[in-house]
Order: sequence, then C-alpha cells, then structure tokens
Amino acid sequence: MSSVTTAMRPGLRYVPGVTTLALDAEKCNGCLLCIKVCPHPVFAPLKGSVEIREPDLCMECGACVKNCSEDALTVNPGTGCAVAILRSWLRRSSSECVA
Ligand code: SF4
Ligand code: SF4
Repeated sequence: MSSVTTAMRPGLRYVPGVTTLALDAEKCNGCLLCIKVCPHPVFAPLKGSVEIREPDLCMECGACVKNCSEDALTVNPGTGCAVAILRSWLRRSSSECVA
C-alpha cells in the first residue's frame, strides 16, 4: 500500500519528483482544457494561464499534451510510473504507481 497520499484524492499521488510533465507558460492561451481532461488536480488556473500546482499527482497519461492546441505542455508518457516501479523493485517495496 502506498505511503504517499494526498488530502484531495487519497491514494492517487504518485512518486514525488519523478514526473516529466512540463509547461511552457509563454505558449499557454489559458483555455483550461488541460484542467478539464486531466484525471487528477494537477493544474490550476493562474492569471490567464495555468500552473502545474501538484506535479506529483501526474500519472503521465499524456491527455493534457494531446489536447493542448498551443503545444504548451510536454510529458514522456509513462516514464515516471516506470521509474517508480523499478525503484520499488530495487527497494523491495510496493510501487506507488499501482493504485
Ligand atoms: S490546454 Fe494548453 S493552452 Fe490550454 S490552458 Fe492548458 S496549457 Fe494552456
Ligand atoms: S499527463 Fe495526464 S495526469 Fe499528467 S497532467 Fe497531463 S492529463 Fe494530467
């Protein structure tokens, strides 16, 4: 069972600091579509744009990237989760990626 949790959605936080999600705020037009398509509360509105407020909630599904018309988002799908699984094997502990 995961020892890393979130108060907003318990059990859905992944491994801290491994997500490859990145935002180029200068390209963002503030459409907020990434917030609508993301299954987790990763993004939040910020002054006509968005910010990545909870990066550790990102499971690298790629939905936000596919729906961003401005190419403001990048992510390597599955990288963070794969890293988490490998780390858990090395530590002989359970993986936080398997909810
Ligand atoms: S989908 Fe892209 S352009 Fe729209 S708010 Fe999100 S990052 Fe900005
Ligand atoms: S990759 Fe998936 S989980 Fe991560 S921010 Fe984008 S839509 Fe949300």
